[in-house]
Amino acid sequence: MIPLIEKYRDFLPVTAATPVVSLGEGGTPLVPLPRLSERLGVSVHAKFEGMNPTGSFKDRGMTMAVSKAVEEGATAVICASTGNTSASAAAYAARAGLTVAVVIPEGKIAAGKLAQALVHGAKVLSLDGSFDDALRVVRGLVERHPISLVNSLNEYRIDGQRTGAFEVCDDLGDAPDVLCIPVGNAGNISAYWLGFNAYREAERSRRVPRLYGFQAAGAAPLVEGAPVAAPETIATAIRIGNPARGDQAMDAMRDSGGGVSAVTDSEIMEAYAMLAATEGIFCEPASAASVAGLLKRHAAGDLNPGETVVCVLTGHGLKDPDTAIVNAEPVRRLSADIDAVEEAVFGD
Ligand SMILES: *Cc1c(COP(=O)(O)O)cnc(C)c1O
Repeated sequence: MIPLIEKYRDFLPVTAATPVVSLGEGGTPLVPLPRLSERLGVSVHAKFEGMNPTGSFKDRGMTMAVSKAVEEGATAVICASTGNTSASAAAYAARAGLTVAVVIPEGKIAAGKLAQALVHGAKVLSLDGSFDDALRVVRGLVERHPISLVNSLNEYRIDGQRTGAFEVCDDLGDAPDVLCIPVGNAGNISAYWLGFNAYREAERSRRVPRLYGFQAAGAAPLVEGAPVAAPETIATAIRIGNPARGDQAMDAMRDSGGGVSAVTDSEIMEAYAMLAATEGIFCEPASAASVAGLLKRHAAGDLNPGETVVCVLTGHGLKDPDTAIVNAEPVRRLSADIDAVEEAVFGD
């Protein structure tokens, strides 16, 4: 296992004194999507971040945030989360021997993410409010107590998440033409932009991609140009009405020649099912926003034939089994009889 921090040490704010807290994050596969590529006439790859230790890209930032928290003498960490940040914080805090509290919006966290936070021993606090309320509360708490905030407001999170861009460039031999990515609190898209630029400045790549960010239609403050008071979407990981890094993300998309747009829940679920059924990749609904968005941008004529596109699939489908099951064909129940099973398997 090579910790992410070791692999990209030259690009990260660590020293010999930084205790590296690692679970083997990063090094996720860049999977070609041949059927989608053929259909669209571009070369599409999925950066499958579900393959990180806790099943989402959050681990890239968390290895940095928790390592630096330990270096700075913290004994506890806290975050507000739509789910994956709490799963990741809980795992890395357990690894480092820190106590951890996670504050989540009531009833809106996928089952797998909740299970992770609980099993790693986090204090899980469910608020009667939205993610944005939860973030406001933890921001206040860290002013009152010497406890480290590991939301993506924490710059170390962003530093670590830039490594996603480094890996994409390493795998392709250069940056792609286009990066499609879901946007919630807007930390990840900001981190990718910083990463692509840092890599080009270091002459490890020659160009930077156009960034297309995608929000869910019911939670699209950047598209609408104003906070959304009651964000709503099946893609709970991006159910955010007032992104902390919204301005930074908008600048990044503009400077890259890309832009932000919205995809509906039904477009998200169509892309989610298509990825699983025709490409063999099971991502969570929020992640599928990147592919739903690619289809939309393609239909609008925003891609040139033959371009290289990377869709960031931010989290694993196993995070949210309920959504998978509810949206699939029901299981068929049969008697334990060969004729009945034969008919079910070979009949229509
Ligand atoms: C956190 C998360 C996002 C959104 O990332 P931001 O940095 O908040 O924009 C998207 N998808 C998944 C699966 C996530 O966990």
